[in-house]
Amino acid sequence: MFDKVLIANRGEIALRIQRACRAMGLQTIVIHSEIDRDARYVALADQALCIGPASASRTYLNAAAILLAAEVSGAQAIHPGYGFLSESAEFADQVAQAGLTFIGPPADCIRTMGDKVAAKRAMREAGVPCVPGPDSALPDDPVEVRATARQIGYPVIIKAAGGGGGRGMRVVRGEHELDDALTLTRSEAAQAFTNAAVYIEKFLEKPRHIEIQVLCDQHGNHLWLGERDCSLQRRNQKVVEEASAPGLDRALVERVGQRCVEACRRIGYRGAGTFEFLYQDGAFFFIEMNTRVQVEHPVTEMTTGLDIVKEQIRVARGEPLLISQADIACSGHAVEFRINAEDPATLAPSSGTVSRWDVPGGIGIRVDSHMAAGAIVPRHYDSLIGKLIAHGKTREEALARARIALSELRVDGVLTNVPLHQEILNDPTFRQGGYDIHYLERWITARATRI
Ligand code: ADP
Repeated sequence: MFDKVLIANRGEIALRIQRACRAMGLQTIVIHSEIDRDARYVALADQALCIGPASASRTYLNAAAILLAAEVSGAQAIHPGYGFLSESAEFADQVAQAGLTFIGPPADCIRTMGDKVAAKRAMREAGVPCVPGPDSALPDDPVEVRATARQIGYPVIIKAAGGGGGRGMRVVRGEHELDDALTLTRSEAAQAFTNAAVYIEKFLEKPRHIEIQVLCDQHGNHLWLGERDCSLQRRNQKVVEEASAPGLDRALVERVGQRCVEACRRIGYRGAGTFEFLYQDGAFFFIEMNTRVQVEHPVTEMTTGLDIVKEQIRVARGEPLLISQADIACSGHAVEFRINAEDPATLAPSSGTVSRWDVPGGIGIRVDSHMAAGAIVPRHYDSLIGKLIAHGKTREEALARARIALSELRVDGVLTNVPLHQEILNDPTFRQGGYDIHYLERWITARATRI
């Protein structure tokens, strides 16, 4: 049991975790870089420790400095948030070795899910539907690889087992492209990732991105909290997310959710996690599991009424979940718009000092952000400065509320993608829902030719 939590992250998620800790009466320790020293959540923490300069590798990715900060501050647990060290099995091990609680799943689960081949095998064994293709790494023999590709049927995709962030994958449209793609992906995997293995699967041309949120404790309670549709993406980055996913067969979602829960039970999963799927032609295909809290968790909180971060912390404290699957009732619809500091026309990151930050409000509106007038948006980290979440009885009502909220949100000093969101809200395909993961890229290209 712990009552002092070190938050090993920054930005909106550092504030989000801090709020959950305060609601539970836990003390918070925030580590930060020099450039984040004046951030709102730093001032609100019970204790703050500057552990280095702006560079992420010397601060938020610096396990040794974070562990030292935990030791000197007397923290008993570490919440890694998302990104940075959140999916490092090694860091989870180090935290445990230091006698502290890692607020996340066991290191072994992170390790298995970090290897996409091992993850796929584990999922298939649990009956979770996967993308067609073998759940083993590709052999060295090119003749064997060719035979496998032919069996799957082109187009196929070659992926690094240890890949992440959309890197280390290549689409192959015919046999003539196979050898080159294989060589390139192999060398990329060997260089960029600790795991040099590559694997192959069917390339789906027009999938949607649907994911399932799970929450598990160590007392045998494994829950799934509904699905999210995160198909509006740009360069593999999610831009808008919603719960529930429009137009899906509820009985099918139910079956997949139960399979995810079964997979969690088999691997001994604990805490919050997300199963990511591609969905095409009425079928789900598992691609990976994220073993951490996600940026888009608020849409599920808005539809289920649960505080996912608080539950994550409760589970890490060894407490049982107080809800059962039968208690989970998703109500209404929620949409999240990621507010990025970027040029809405070129989409290039924008940094600087925010001179005005007027936050919208009203029924069904939630804004998760660490921003305020005078806040700095450093160029050193990702460009997410906040999230605007709208909830309504129906999708139409949620979108109508989002439209008003976005018009009230005023940010000066840095450029934001708010105008992009406003344009997207006027797009008939977006309003209808159910578009594929390439829709936004196509829409942006078409817009560029219109301008
Ligand atoms: P990462 O860990 O790098 O995010 P993922 O396995 O989640 O890797 O894949 C990232 C993205 O690549 C997916 O969201 C999807 O757009 C695309 N992708 C991956 N596998 C496939 C596939 N089999 N067919 C089509 N697109 C795919």
